[in-house]
Amino acid sequence: MKVAKFGGSSVASAEQFRKVAYIIQSDVERRIIVVSAPGKRYKTDTKVTDLLIQLAEAAIQGELIEPFVETVIRRYIDIADGLELSASDVTEQMKADLRKKIDTYRHDQDRLMDALKASGEDNNAKLMALYLRHIGLDAHYVSPKEAGILVTDEPGNAQMLPESYEKLRELKHRSGVLVIPGFFGYSLNGHIVTFPRGGSDITGSIVAAGVGADVYENFTDVDSIYCVNPSIVDNPRQLKEITYREMRELSYSGFSVFHDEALEPVYKARIPVCVKNTNNPEAPGTWIVAQRDYRDQPVAGIASDTGFCSINVSKYLMNREIGFGRKLLHILEDEGISYEHTPSGIDNMSVILRANQLEGEKERRIVDRIQTELQVDDIHIEYGLALIMVVGEGMERAVGVAAKATAAFAKANINIEMINQGSSEVSMMFGVKEEVVDQAVKALYDAYFSKQPLS
Ligand code: ASP
Repeated sequence: MKVAKFGGSSVASAEQFRKVAYIIQSDVERRIIVVSAPGKRYKTDTKVTDLLIQLAEAAIQGELIEPFVETVIRRYIDIADGLELSASDVTEQMKADLRKKIDTYRHDQDRLMDALKASGEDNNAKLMALYLRHIGLDAHYVSPKEAGILVTDEPGNAQMLPESYEKLRELKHRSGVLVIPGFFGYSLNGHIVTFPRGGSDITGSIVAAGVGADVYENFTDVDSIYCVNPSIVDNPRQLKEITYREMRELSYSGFSVFHDEALEPVYKARIPVCVKNTNNPEAPGTWIVAQRDYRDQPVAGIASDTGFCSINVSKYLMNREIGFGRKLLHILEDEGISYEHTPSGIDNMSVILRANQLEGEKERRIVDRIQTELQVDDIHIEYGLALIMVVGEGMERAVGVAAKATAAFAKANINIEMINQGSSEVSMMFGVKEEVVDQAVKALYDAYFSKQPLS
């Protein structure tokens, strides 16, 4: 049995719905389908989820909601019309449901936002089931409540509760094609709670693990996962296989193909994932598996992301001071800040974090606290930092992987601000100035992947 998840661009229009139907019909093992809300039909289009966020914001501000409701429902009407479905009663029901949600949750902004966001996938799953039945399939919409997807009660940031699995297992015994909306579950007290953005991947993975699928297929709009962002390097190498750990590192650090939290359920259940293209389903796609052959290619991919900063502190004899690191990190914890890396030396420690967490008063307060509570000799914050991750399980045993990177940076005349290697066997991190990050990624790509080895 396969669980197939279709992302926003795969279900954005009538034409895309037809492709999805063809994919389902062409393999009887595709028995459970998870869908996103309609995504972008063209580059400048707006995702339905974003339209719903605008609607929620208008409702919260007490603005006129009708134009926003109409824009959202128009997307579903267009899909239904393009599929020649007579679905006016269904779209009328969607409209009534949006209005009812706004009425019910008017005084609870977080719940209102979540209920509206979730309706994007919910209505799309209903429409998809309707269309599949229309073309003769025995398809059924199954709500996350009925499926048993139970989550923590953190609006916009749900995490699955392990007790979900018991009920999910029963889905296996249901007949026909089941269509489940992605992106949300229910808390134990019965509220709709959404996963973080892009979270339909998480639903697909939970369902695949729950029913013990043979494969979790993740349909998107690219033929495969590339070893580097194709907007930085033209025509980069396609990956046939990548391990769960490699994918986790890459999607965390800038690869947007797959939600980084989505891998956990399938990783634990050891279910292979295949990332495929709805627009070219014959292409083999990329397999995400437990192990691959690392011999030819120790490095699997290179990811990069901007918007980081580094809090650099130094204090003479820091290495002798028991508890220094804990106290420093405790200040950040106190201020509600999450950090990414903590490279350190005998008298120095840097904490790398996303710079947007230091907005407003926070920066000043943190600097003051570190100065007064830790009596440091120096503290300064460096902004404009980009992180590059070189990821590959084969690095652990291959000789010269780091040398290739540093030689490539030297040849491209790029200054490395920071290196972090060792704590993860799977990745090597380089910090560079944001202005040179793309150039740095290109240099690394040439070093690891181009046929011409670096002289
Ligand atoms: N529709 C949601 C979003 O745009 C979830 C998803 O598509 O995975 O974030």
